Amino acid sequence: MSHFWSAVVHRLTPYVPGEQPKVAGLIKLNTNENPYGPSPRVLSALQAEVGDGLRLYPDPNAESLKSAVAACYGVTPAQVFVGNGSDEVLAHAFLGLLQHEQPLLFPDITYSFYPVYCGLYGIEFEAVPLTADFEIEVADYARPNGGIILPNPNAPTGRLLPLAKVEALLAGNPDSVVVVDEAYVDFGGQSAIALVDRHPQLLVIQTLSKSRSLAGLRVGFAVGHPKLIEALERVKNSFNSYPLGRLAIRGAVAAMEDRQYFEQTRQMIMRTREELAGKLRGFGFEVLPSAANFVFARHPVWDAAELAARLREKAIIVRHFRQERIEQFLRITVGTDDQCAALCRALALILGGEAAIVNN
Ligand SMILES: *Cc1c(COP(=O)(O)O)cnc(C)c1O
Repeated sequence: MSHFWSAVVHRLTPYVPGEQPKVAGLIKLNTNENPYGPSPRVLSALQAEVGDGLRLYPDPNAESLKSAVAACYGVTPAQVFVGNGSDEVLAHAFLGLLQHEQPLLFPDITYSFYPVYCGLYGIEFEAVPLTADFEIEVADYARPNGGIILPNPNAPTGRLLPLAKVEALLAGNPDSVVVVDEAYVDFGGQSAIALVDRHPQLLVIQTLSKSRSLAGLRVGFAVGHPKLIEALERVKNSFNSYPLGRLAIRGAVAAMEDRQYFEQTRQMIMRTREELAGKLRGFGFEVLPSAANFVFARHPVWDAAELAARLREKAIIVRHFRQERIEQFLRITVGTDDQCAALCRALALILGGEAAIVNN
């Protein structure tokens, strides 16, 4: 019945998200969710919002949330856009700011949703290769383009581009919109939000899914010049007036306000990450330096797909990408200390068994 499909649907290659298992009891280190629950203040704010008020539409402009984000980063609410997860904010940025005559540039190894949006909106793009060490080389972006987008830290490598280099990228591209997707910046980077007042072409996108433990609530935001924000609002108001429900707005405000819980949990994750990276290196893995809540690691002997399958047999899920250059890597989300210990026990069994076979 696919003759019912529109031409655009025929040519789409949709994004494939990591598995959300239906069975309980698995150790889920595959989609970079936060292992700690949301702030208790978020939970009580959500409970307070449940009631008769849900018969009413939410504030279409989510003013309370824009103000909370603005207060958090020392910008004005007119510099803030909010959406149903940062994926939606990204989608509006692709349509509203990144669709131009010249090709869009992004790294060859990056968030795999970017080429999907290009397919959806018919945007030409060029994938700019990372260096052999999987680093972004800013000089490689000095070519004609209709915009630039990159995650910082990059996904799935976890590597951080220092803020000075982000600024160099902006200096070299004054006439293109530069979108910095900071889904993981709270785990070790410095936000480029500090640069938006000096660079009107910069749009910074963040999410509450990772560092604020709210992947299930679906809230993301963008910060940039009011003219860039206006473009996103025009797309949003041509698509869905109410992308955020009352629960999402209320919960997200509480999450932005509870700085102490945010600090505490992100510090725990960064500490666990360094411990986990050390243990993986002890097992012989090459682990890229990570400023995110995951590590990207490859074993010199074991095939990554095989290793992921063996871990899965032991009820641990990690992410493996069948993509050139990175097919021997695993992306492992930083869990709690207990979850990481379980991962290491499983690896010791799997790799130890192999070592025994090799030694015999
Ligand atoms: C997780 C992630 C997002 C999407 O986050 P949501 O707000 O949950 O939609 C965006 N960009 C990158 C690089 C991510 O890893």
